[in-house]
Amino acid sequence: MKIAVMKELYKGENRVPLVPATVEKLTKLGANIEIESGLGMPCRFEDADYVKAGAVIGSDRAEMLSSSDMVLRLRKPPMDEVETMKKGCIHVSYLDPFNEVELVDKLKEAGISAVSLEMIPRTTVAQKMDVLSSQANLGGYVAVILGADHLDKVFPMMTTPAGTIKPARVFIIGVGVAGLQAIATAKRLGARVEAFDTRPVVEEQVKSLGAKFVKVDLGETGQTKDGYAKELTPEQMAKQKEEMAKACANADVVITTAQLFGRPAPRIVDRAMLAAMRPGSVIIDMAVETGGNVEGSEVDKIVEIEGVKVIGLGNLPGRAAETASQMYSSNLGNFVDHFWDKEAGVFVLDREDEIMQGALITHNGEIVSEMYKSIMNK
Ligand code: NAD
Repeated sequence: MKIAVMKELYKGENRVPLVPATVEKLTKLGANIEIESGLGMPCRFEDADYVKAGAVIGSDRAEMLSSSDMVLRLRKPPMDEVETMKKGCIHVSYLDPFNEVELVDKLKEAGISAVSLEMIPRTTVAQKMDVLSSQANLGGYVAVILGADHLDKVFPMMTTPAGTIKPARVFIIGVGVAGLQAIATAKRLGARVEAFDTRPVVEEQVKSLGAKFVKVDLGETGQTKDGYAKELTPEQMAKQKEEMAKACANADVVITTAQLFGRPAPRIVDRAMLAAMRPGSVIIDMAVETGGNVEGSEVDKIVEIEGVKVIGLGNLPGRAAETASQMYSSNLGNFVDHFWDKEAGVFVLDREDEIMQGALITHNGEIVSEMYKSIMNK
């Protein structure tokens, strides 16, 4: 079974989909891996490292795509490469299906079995292949480091002969995977940390990391069966903003991570709230690429609004590219391994498996994801 791994074309992307250690693991399973020449260079993995791990090196992209049974990559496939792939080819990558309707239709028409790694269910068994978690975790870490870099105060309390310096105050809105890592990182750097999430179950987790949970009585909020937040009513949103305004005004660094599955991120921090913050404070909008939690934040830019530095840099995990690649690669390797028939030496697209049911979007010329069909009214 031939598996091609494609070089990333997206500008500024330094993560790579597969590192040599995963190639070794998959080769041992019996996979024939063909790596596009230069694949690992953004993270300093040479072609020779991949060859040593058992891969062969390909240099003709079209030839690689048209001759492989499976294609692995990081980001979604470029539109003009879909038809180059073999009918029946299994394509595994991030796909962003809810925002890529045209691409999903094209994959369907080309008879590609497209797996969207974002759609892997959040179950215990699937945790080892959960790219959303591995990358969000790193994103939370990077957000705090960025915040510390852009703030002109130190994070920890310092007792010195020159006086006692108070610790910086960090407020985190949204405590999923990214938010939890952000709390842990900010605590390690010595900040005083507060956090809020609409899911009440999070309070215990926040406290166990030594941070304070900001309580807001929003009435019924809850979460979906997969643990995702439900959208708030306009009244709940207004109440949340009122309470968030106070916590933001007290903070030196605010990190927002709030997301709603399959929908644009909620707008939580408005201009009036920014105006109430101390000049020189920093806010990092981790949801900037899905619509933004902060009014005025711009993708890949740092802008100053009402004296507050609003950081909207995208792809935060990509700023720790080597670690992010190791984690993504390991997730990808675990996904392939899970469906690998060790005796026959092939990947089995098992549609009875609940992970495949969640992640497979198109197959055999049809859209097969029930979740995608219900959200997109297909
Ligand atoms: P996410 O990226 O979808 O959202 C980030 C956070 O924003 C969430 O905690 C959400 O509740 C919060 N949020 C949404 N609207 C908000 C608002 N208006 N104000 C404040 N916060 C708001 O979340 P995620 O990190 O992908 O995690 C989603 C869930 O999945 C969590 O319950 C997490 O524990 C769970 N999870 C489970 C597994 C597993 O079991 N394998 C793995 C990863 C995550």
